[in-house]
Amino acid sequence: MSDGTVLLRMNNIHKRFPGVYALNDVSIELHEGEVLALLGENGAGKSTLIKILGGIYSKDEGSIEVSGKETPINAVADARAAGISIIHQELVLVPYLNVAANIFLGRELRTKGNLLDSDAMLKRSQEILDSLKIRFSASKRVNELTVAQQQMVEIAKAISFESRIIVMDEPTSALSDADAEALFDTIDRLKASGIGIIYISHRMSELQRVADRVTVMRDGKVIATKDAKTTSNDELVALMVGRDIGNYYNRDHALAKEEVVLEVEGLSSEKVHDVSFKLHKGEILGFGGLVGCGRTESILAMLGIDKRTAGRVLINGKEQPRKVDAHEAYSQGIGFVPEDRRDEGMFPMLDVKFNMSLKSLPKVMRGARYDKRLETELCQRYMKELSIKAPGIYTRMNSLSGGNQQK
Ligand code: ADP
Ligand code: MG
Repeated sequence: MSDGTVLLRMNNIHKRFPGVYALNDVSIELHEGEVLALLGENGAGKSTLIKILGGIYSKDEGSIEVSGKETPINAVADARAAGISIIHQELVLVPYLNVAANIFLGRELRTKGNLLDSDAMLKRSQEILDSLKIRFSASKRVNELTVAQQQMVEIAKAISFESRIIVMDEPTSALSDADAEALFDTIDRLKASGIGIIYISHRMSELQRVADRVTVMRDGKVIATKDAKTTSNDELVALMVGRDIGNYYNRDHALAKEEVVLEVEGLSSEKVHDVSFKLHKGEILGFGGLVGCGRTESILAMLGIDKRTAGRVLINGKEQPRKVDAHEAYSQGIGFVPEDRRDEGMFPMLDVKFNMSLKSLPKVMRGARYDKRLETELCQRYMKELSIKAPGIYTRMNSLSGGNQQK
């Protein structure tokens, strides 16, 4: 458990991007054996702070102290040398190599004759896996592992570097509840050995389970640091969004008794079977289930992106033709924000304006001509209405934070 010894201090960090003040005087402190959660809405600056710690971005101002010693971090290697490991949301292991080869990638152990010492690497890797009570073999190829297991390989790798500070960026976002629970057990073991963990999340429900303290960020600033066990979710959400939450969780369920705007009945496709649900006006309907159980596939079948083999889809009570396609669904007023937004949701190399108006060309057409001024006006209005944080409508999508891309 945490004894208050300070492992890491990031002091008064500032970072500006063109048009965006991403970090404005941010300070955080991480103790030995604790989990510090970084909580904040999309665009708050969490990833930027972590990238500075990992030597991926350079800071404009501020300093970093590791175990009380000022430690300049100007490159990924500096972070490594200072005992800092970052586990990114997208895992970056080599699929065709085994676990041990991945753990020692780029610093392979060698025999006296300078040959690869696979045995030594396997042995050392297995020791680390065992110490974490992780139950798979270091000789397994990474592409045979689940996402959860691959994450464990990343953690084992961090340990092999003798990291004292481990950062996890939204580690549970692709895990089932059972896998998340296993991750939390591993985190408990890391804590017991004195390692400090920075845990980025916006899942309120897991904070009490996993975190000791929570630092809340908003608009590039630290708003507060709270004890995770004694602070209510409501209080954290209020700090995070910067307004009183009032009815944040209490949606008006009377509304939901009203009109059915979307009805799906006995929907089947190659991947889902007999899916039925009703969506009412003013309602948010959640789809829960383990990864791979068919949540996304149900929607894809409904939209006609996957071929429908049976079932009915009614929009505002009107039955849709069996061969409804994605474009038609869109013109019926159904929007779709895909899970994999990079590959399916946008053109990352093109600008905000292009991505925003691509699906609404008819709106900005004047006869056969397209009205550039109207397009600009509309885009600027949406930027404002959705508080999209970007320098302007000509900014390329890939320089926006994930949440802003999603908006
Ligand atoms: P979070 O991780 O909390 O969602 P980020 O740290 O990704 O937030 O983003 C903070 C702000 O900095 C956002 O407004 C984002 O658009 C901006 N930003 C992040 N990375 C870049 C970049 N490489 N270029 C320009 N702006 C960026
Ligand atoms: Mg982020």
